[in-house]
Amino acid sequence: MPRDDPALLFKKFHMTEDTIMLLRHTPKEITERNALAINPAKTCQPIGAMYAALGIHGCLPHSHGSQGCCAYHRSALTRHYKEPVSAATSSFTEGASVFGGQANMLQAIDNIFAVYDPEVIAIHTTCLSETIGDDLKQIKKKADAEGKIPKGKEIISCSTPSYVGSHVTGFSSMVTSMAKMAEPTGKKNGKLNIIPGWVEPADMEEIKRLVGLAGVKSILFPDTSGVLNGPLSGEYKMFPDGGTTVKELKSTGDSIGTLALGEWCSGEAARWLDAKMKVPCRVLDMPFGLSATDRFIDALRMIAGVSVPDEIALERGQLVDMISDMHQYLYHKKVALVGDPDQLIAMTEFLVSLDMCPIHIVTGTPGKKFEARIKEITKDMPFEVNVRAKGDMFLLHQWIKNEPVDLLIGNTYCKYIARDEDIPFVRWGFPILDRQGHQYFPTVGYKGGLRLLEKILGVLLDRLDRDAPEQSFELVL
Ligand code: SF4
Repeated sequence: MPRDDPALLFKKFHMTEDTIMLLRHTPKEITERNALAINPAKTCQPIGAMYAALGIHGCLPHSHGSQGCCAYHRSALTRHYKEPVSAATSSFTEGASVFGGQANMLQAIDNIFAVYDPEVIAIHTTCLSETIGDDLKQIKKKADAEGKIPKGKEIISCSTPSYVGSHVTGFSSMVTSMAKMAEPTGKKNGKLNIIPGWVEPADMEEIKRLVGLAGVKSILFPDTSGVLNGPLSGEYKMFPDGGTTVKELKSTGDSIGTLALGEWCSGEAARWLDAKMKVPCRVLDMPFGLSATDRFIDALRMIAGVSVPDEIALERGQLVDMISDMHQYLYHKKVALVGDPDQLIAMTEFLVSLDMCPIHIVTGTPGKKFEARIKEITKDMPFEVNVRAKGDMFLLHQWIKNEPVDLLIGNTYCKYIARDEDIPFVRWGFPILDRQGHQYFPTVGYKGGLRLLEKILGVLLDRLDRDAPEQSFELVL
């Protein structure tokens, strides 16, 4: 008998059909919960702050709290990007937890500059240091007064208490701290600031390529390309070649404008530069899918005062071609989505433009504006949408049990729902812990849209093949 024969397994391990359902305790009946999240659709604020900080060249992120927090943040990023993630910690013990972590932080600043010599230390707080009430700005002032910050080196910081917000809020806070490094000279630099939001390193490369094709000079921040998708060269570099330089960050106050991609991740930083540095900003959606990319390219074209370059027009045409070739396999397919607000807004719009029906949408990040935006995008869909900000994957699973879907899109944690409910599944978002490629292949822009569409069609057509009776098992689809 084959080793994986289910009948044999059931007998050997006294299993029943029911016991192989990993989420078998999720009931179909939905009870309103306010004080409890089950299988959260978010992670903690410092992870976002740490990811953003890695997008500065020569930056060492620093976690002001216990070693355990820092180890978790680093491992979460390492597992997703498959790259070593270096970060320092204030290593709180009982004393710091009671009396505050200033002494630890000052010692850390001394040690970090002496041993690792980074250009920037980017400090974020944790639940513990926030609960004590440590004031990072005051600690930085003290470090400065005591001559602990070498000339030409920088310390930036942000507050990231994880009992509010999410990894998205932490990312946004660190990006805003980067914007605050601006030192305007009064002379414009002719560049456009682009804040890409939490996208993959490959997406940041793709955004730079599109901006270059449009003939726009830019400062992209943060920029994790070349940091978290670098090559295996045989030589360890504490600080990889990529990342936005301190010089560029200081120059953002002299830029001609700012394009922020995604309200949740990038809006606050762009508006700070607008209000304080008089650098006018526009907040666009992240350029996932056809329409959001159209708006991004149009904005670049207007800024550069040029027509859309032929190369970009060709890529758009290829995406439209694939959509029209395969539309019959997408039409009215129901989709469940989980992820972060900026990504979900653009993805929902893309799916609706494909005539698909995203009917269950959950993010763990708070913000009622998200629900309103999703309802607006899906208002002409033939089905009602279930949408929840500050929701969790338990609720998403319950919605799916009540109204099944043809496709699930989200991070690796969705695999449990996909397995139990037997749903085709596309991994997209953060974190992806069990597959490769997200660091290297972009999903933004028209080329990224082709990749997203290829992934969606791949799982839908695999399912069609799997379930086809022999008389309609087609060679050509
Ligand atoms: S204690 Fe707070 S900051 Fe630390 S890992 Fe947990 S949620 Fe994150």
